Amino acid sequence: MVELPDKTAAFIDWYLAVVEAANLTDKRYPVKGLNVWTPDGMRARRNLDAVLIREIEATGSVAVEFPALIPSTEFAKEAEHIKGFDAQVYWVTKGGTSPLDIPLVLRPTSETAMYPVFALWVRSHRDLPLNVYQIVNTFRYETKTTRPFLRVREIHFFEEHTCQANEEHAAERVRSNRQAFRAMASALALPYLAVRRPDWDKFPGAFYSIALDIPVGAARTLQIGSIHHYRENFARPYGIRYEAADGSQRYVHQTTFGLSERLLGAALAVHGDRKGAVFPTALAPYEVVVIPIPGPDAGEAPRRVATEVAERLRRHGRRVHLDDGDERPGAKYYRWETAGTPLRLEVGRREVENRALSAADRLGHKAPVALDRLEHEVDDRLREFDRALIERAQRAFAAAFSVARSLEELAASSTVRLVGWCGREDCGHRIETAIDGALLGTPEDPLPFPVPPVTGCIACGRSDGAQWAIAARPL
Ligand code: ZN
Repeated sequence: MVELPDKTAAFIDWYLAVVEAANLTDKRYPVKGLNVWTPDGMRARRNLDAVLIREIEATGSVAVEFPALIPSTEFAKEAEHIKGFDAQVYWVTKGGTSPLDIPLVLRPTSETAMYPVFALWVRSHRDLPLNVYQIVNTFRYETKTTRPFLRVREIHFFEEHTCQANEEHAAERVRSNRQAFRAMASALALPYLAVRRPDWDKFPGAFYSIALDIPVGAARTLQIGSIHHYRENFARPYGIRYEAADGSQRYVHQTTFGLSERLLGAALAVHGDRKGAVFPTALAPYEVVVIPIPGPDAGEAPRRVATEVAERLRRHGRRVHLDDGDERPGAKYYRWETAGTPLRLEVGRREVENRALSAADRLGHKAPVALDRLEHEVDDRLREFDRALIERAQRAFAAAFSVARSLEELAASSTVRLVGWCGREDCGHRIETAIDGALLGTPEDPLPFPVPPVTGCIACGRSDGAQWAIAARPL
C-alpha cells in the first residue's frame, strides 16, 4: 500500500498523488498545461457537465457554441478587458505560409467572440433577456506552475453570457446564477463562500464580480467560479442596443457566469483523504463497483451473481463497473478505494448462499445489501454516503476559518482569516501584505458558522462601515 503525502503539510504533493490514483488525466502530453483526459477522466467530466447543464437550463439558459478564434480587431474593443487578458492569449498569425491580414486570438474567454454577434441578435425589447451558455475549451498562456484541473493552459470552460434590459434585471440574473450554483455545489457536496471581490481584483471590464471560493487547507483558498455584472461596459463598445417599448434606443446590461474543470479539482481537493480520491456520487466515474470473489469451493456462482447484480443496477440507471479480472480481491479493493468509488459490492460463496452482498462505502461504512432489495438498498446507501460526505466537508469548512484581530496575527495564519475591513483600498493592500496573500472581499451571505460582531478595520481601526472580509493565500 502506497503512503500518500500529508494533505495539510504537503497539499500539492498530496493532490497530485490523488489525481494520479484516480487516473483521470495523463499529463505526459508534450506541451505543459495541456493534459489528456483519460476514459475515467472523461466519465467524471461528463458527469460534471451534466450537473452544470441540468442546473443552468433549469433557469432558462440555452446552449450555443461560438468559434474558438477571435479577430484581434474585436478582441481589442473593450480597453479594460484587453488589458486584463493581453499577456495570457495565444495568437494565430499565419494561415498556411501566408501571414493573416487580421491576426486571430485563440479564445481565453468568449465575450469578444459573442458580443459582435449579440449586437445582430438583439434588436428589440422582445429579444430580451438573451441567456446563453457554452461548454468549450478556452486557452490561456499560464506562466505559473501548471496543475491538473487547477491551473491549466487548455481549460474545459463553462461560460454563460446574458443580455438584460437594465441594471436591475442584470442584478436579478446574478441572483439566479447564484441560486443555480447553490444546486451545482450541493450535487458536488462542496461548501463554498460567495465573495464580492474588491474593485482592484474584479474581472477585467466588470462593474462588479462575485467569486465562489473554497478553503483548501491551511490559509489557502481556491476560486472555483465567478459571476459578473458588466452594466453597459461591453454593450457600448460592441453596440448591443435595443428598441425599448417607448421607442427609445438603449444599451443592454450584461452578465456572465464562469465555471471550469476546477470544480473537479475542487471535489478531489475537498473530499480526498489519506487513502486517495473520494467522489460524490454525482461526479464519480462509477458509482458502484461489483467484485466477484471466486473461491476453490465457490464454483462459478459468485461470478454469475455479480454479473446479474451489475446488470440490474445498470438497468436501474446506476453507473456500475464489474471488476471480474484475475487480481486478488484485496488488490481490487485497494484500487477502487484509492480511485474514490462511492460503493463496493462483494460477491463470494457466503454472499450467494445468504442472498446478501457485503457492501462498503468509501467512507468505511459497512453493512450487507439484500439481493432481493438490491436497487432500493443501493439507492439508500449512496444517498447516505453523499449525506455523510457533505457533513464531513461542512465540518472541515467551518474549521477552516478563524478571526484575526491584528495585522501581526495575519502573518502567522494557519487558517483562512476573517478580518474587519473598512472598505478602503489602501487598508486592503495592507491586509494583503500582512498575510502575504489576497483580500478576497466581503461575503455575500451570512457566514455558515458563528462569528462575533465586527469591532473595526484591522488596518486603520475605523469602526465606521467596517465589515467582515476574507483574507487568504489563494492557490
Ligand atoms: Zn481601514
